[in-house]
Amino acid sequence: MNSSDQLFINGTWLSAVDGATREIFNPATNEVITLVSDASLSDTEKAIHAARTAFDSGPWPRLTATERATYLFKLADLIEAQAEALAMVETRNSGKPLREARYDVADASACFRYYAGLITKPSGETYAVPDPNILAMTVREPIGVCAQIIPWNYPFLMAAWKLAPGLAAGNCCILKPAETTPLSAIELFNLIAQLNFPPGSVQLLLGSGPTVGNLLAESPLVDKIAFTGSTKTGRSIMRAATGNIKKVTLELGGKSPNIVFADADLNLALEYALFAIFAGQGQVCTAGSRLLLQDTLAETFLPRLAEASRCIVVGDGMNPDTEMGPLISPLQLERVQAYIQSGLAEGAQLLCGGQRINTPECERGNFLEPTIFVHTHPCMKIVQEEIFGPVLVVQLFHDEAEAISLANDSVYGLAAGVFTSDTTKGLRVLKQLRAGITWLNTYHPTFNEAPWGGYKQSGIGRELGTYGLDAYLEIKQININLAPQPLGWYRKCFS
Ligand code: NAP
Ligand code: MG
Repeated sequence: MNSSDQLFINGTWLSAVDGATREIFNPATNEVITLVSDASLSDTEKAIHAARTAFDSGPWPRLTATERATYLFKLADLIEAQAEALAMVETRNSGKPLREARYDVADASACFRYYAGLITKPSGETYAVPDPNILAMTVREPIGVCAQIIPWNYPFLMAAWKLAPGLAAGNCCILKPAETTPLSAIELFNLIAQLNFPPGSVQLLLGSGPTVGNLLAESPLVDKIAFTGSTKTGRSIMRAATGNIKKVTLELGGKSPNIVFADADLNLALEYALFAIFAGQGQVCTAGSRLLLQDTLAETFLPRLAEASRCIVVGDGMNPDTEMGPLISPLQLERVQAYIQSGLAEGAQLLCGGQRINTPECERGNFLEPTIFVHTHPCMKIVQEEIFGPVLVVQLFHDEAEAISLANDSVYGLAAGVFTSDTTKGLRVLKQLRAGITWLNTYHPTFNEAPWGGYKQSGIGRELGTYGLDAYLEIKQININLAPQPLGWYRKCFS
């Protein structure tokens, strides 16, 4: 691969047809790391045609499941062998602390293994239909050409969440990373290229969302679009996908409540309240961005929360001491700062944070203090909208019913946490929350084995687990006549 060829199409590294490139930045310093190819609409057409041809007549969908699994197991091995280097690329490009990037890379490798294993397990069913002479069954088949558009907050892990089930199922895939964070995906495709996946089975397309991404969503040659990102873009993708009634799965935003009852283990609740919002700098779809605190705790818990937030070590993710990194871009920093201004303008008060960090280590990057708002009202923009930064809003509640009602007062329904030492109450509350991913006395653990996705405007469909594979498979019904004999329906014709 030449240093300017970062589009992987039909098994070959290519530059953009028009030679366009894009600068890629390190968010800790805002220095340019490198230039990468920037695809145009004609590169996108090329990628779509490669995937279409590969699906319609190439080997990938026609390999046995065991053969496809072998490729994916080998890919998992290569990821593991390169894990530290991949984590460093991820940290430089996304800003996330190295310890988080290491988790992501390990999870990504495990995701390829999980789906490589799952695809060889039993998948069809037979049905007891009311005709003794018919054997009715289902088989699963790939959907076809799948376009997969991913965001900048988990560039490597999201690539795995999309490609592992998509490829295991026998689809031919086109991955479009976010324009800001393509570097770990390029490394992943270097490994894919080493393994000689059949040409066209999997393409890497780097380019902007509104052009390249939109064409993927619109193209009649693409059968499915899988997207993770903002609800606004999800809506636009859904609209673009109507032309050929594409299959659509969407993993969108959230404003997830983390509910702490007075009877919780308060040390545990405190640490998780911080982790829920400040992991990934708050740029996490499931971030526990609303802390719902039982009112009797306010006086003791909030000062401890503020003090602990001030102790979080913010800095360059490459520094082993760093606990929270920079936001992805100056633009994202501006968006988050605008939310802080809006919170203040609407009458909320800062418990801590709110400022950009200007220490010598941080002044060039997009660093913001861990920020917490109190005296909030459910109508405020900072309570209703996804900020996608290290900004927590505290909402006080009086009793269980009010906790549930505040928690559900959102257009989103992605995740929710509950902290209480009364497990019965915890379960009772979780069951009433309109959210797809819930945690009791923990926050954020995510498993390849269990389904992931949201209620309400947080998305459509589920990734991960067996549901994540189903999302890349069609279901075919097969009926076999065990006793063929004349039907006798058209008596005159066949007498
Ligand atoms: P975004 O617009 O949703 O971007 C996510 C992905 O979609 C990127 O690959 C993007 O490409 C692509 N895209 C953008 N517009 C598109 C279009 N019209 N058609 C097809 N694909 C398109 O997110 P963003 O602009 O990077 O961030 C904006 C906000 O989104 C954040 O503040 C945050 O609230 C939210 N967000 C949520 C998640 C999540 O996991 N829920 C993740 C990221 C962002 P480009 O990179 O080229 O724009
Ligand atoms: Mg964008």
